[in-house]
Amino acid sequence: MVRTAEIGIIGVGTAGSMALWQLARRGVEVVGFEQFYPGHALGAAGGDTRLCRIASEGHEFIPMSRRARPLWRELEAESGLSLYDACGGLSIGQPDSAPICKVTGNAEAFGLPHEKLDAAELRRRYPHLPVQDGEIGFLDSEAGQVKAQVSIVAATDVAERAGAKILRGCAVSDIRADEDGVRFRAAGEDWRVRRLILSPGAWANAFGAAMLPAVTIKRVAVYWYPLRNAGLYRPDVFPILERQNGEGFFYAWPCIDGSTLKVALGQGIGLETIASPDGFDQSLMDGLRPRMDAVVAEYLPDVIPVQIRHAVAIDGYTGDGSFIFGPLAGAPNIIAMTGLSGHGFKMAPEIGRQAAEWATRGEPSADMLKMRA
Ligand SMILES: Cc1cc2nc3c(=O)[nH]c(=O)nc-3n(C[C@H](O)[C@H](O)[C@H](O)COP(=O)(O)OP(=O)(O)OC[C@H]3O[C@@H](n4cnc5c(N)ncnc54)[C@H](O)[C@@H]3O)c2cc1C
Repeated sequence: MVRTAEIGIIGVGTAGSMALWQLARRGVEVVGFEQFYPGHALGAAGGDTRLCRIASEGHEFIPMSRRARPLWRELEAESGLSLYDACGGLSIGQPDSAPICKVTGNAEAFGLPHEKLDAAELRRRYPHLPVQDGEIGFLDSEAGQVKAQVSIVAATDVAERAGAKILRGCAVSDIRADEDGVRFRAAGEDWRVRRLILSPGAWANAFGAAMLPAVTIKRVAVYWYPLRNAGLYRPDVFPILERQNGEGFFYAWPCIDGSTLKVALGQGIGLETIASPDGFDQSLMDGLRPRMDAVVAEYLPDVIPVQIRHAVAIDGYTGDGSFIFGPLAGAPNIIAMTGLSGHGFKMAPEIGRQAAEWATRGEPSADMLKMRA
């Protein structure tokens, strides 16, 4: 017997969960297939939180990132869960440093709301942060942080309440498209759907290059340090921090657990290419701990420079940071949304919204036409 549904989603992770929510709220019959369970930490969503910075995005992603902001609030309202902190994002560095040049250039090009702070104003507003003479601050007032795995659980809970079905522990294979729809195998059963959304994240290569462009799989590390005075780092007083340091820049996230600060090194430090996403190594890369400890000791004086936790998650990267997003060549009833390249979380509800519009109307969005699959 062949089981059927109007729309299928393969991979109910970051992007897939948002498409599921967006389709279910439109009353569309949709089934999500997830090899593990929504909200797991074995893919791209591990590590508690995600930066939602606008001004630091690439030009083609700034409008998508801005359109996602109200959707995070809608997901909060529908799920009853607190997901998004509108904490703002602060970049600190020399005026000619790469991070400062990027955010100021984008703010001018897109008319983004922001504030520029000189060293004296930085010291006045954030007295616990060391600031050198000549450094400036750029405050991206539209930036925020979002709880990652919790958001996926929120989207799937809301979707299931609205009638969506999720098959957990159900890996999909053998996808074949024809003129009327798409067939595939899932947990020993044959399925047929009218349209298919393919959102397998770092598992994209398992479907073969004939179906999906290949992605490079990278594992990415983030770390936590204990706080002396957690009140200084609450999301209502401390923005996401991007700070120039001796060898580049680093990030710090506002504290959400009341006792630790999450940090990471920028410029690809803490990223490692791996061959397969299955059972990936969750240990910390060699030599990272002392480098991060030294940065914390120098730039975050209220943080105890003794790393107490780390997380490693994986994502699929394209060569140029663009997404694989749109109908597949030769299979117009399938869209791919993968290869989100280390910066897709903030846009996930908007990616899901565009996928839902495509699934119901059959027309690719302007963003899909720009990116293609
Ligand atoms: C450590 C880290 C930090 C990051 N920080 C940020 C940030 O600050 N801001 C930001 O915007 N982005 C950030 N990103 C990027 C962002 O998290 C990812 O781009 C995004 O989560 C990718 O979503 P996805 O849906 O493609 O993958 P996933 O969320 O991994 O979802 C893919 C899903 O497909 C399932 N699946 C795969 N194959 C099959 C199959 N055959 N059958 C059934 N199910 C299948 C998987 O189990 C998984 O659940 C970060 C990424 C990492 C790793």
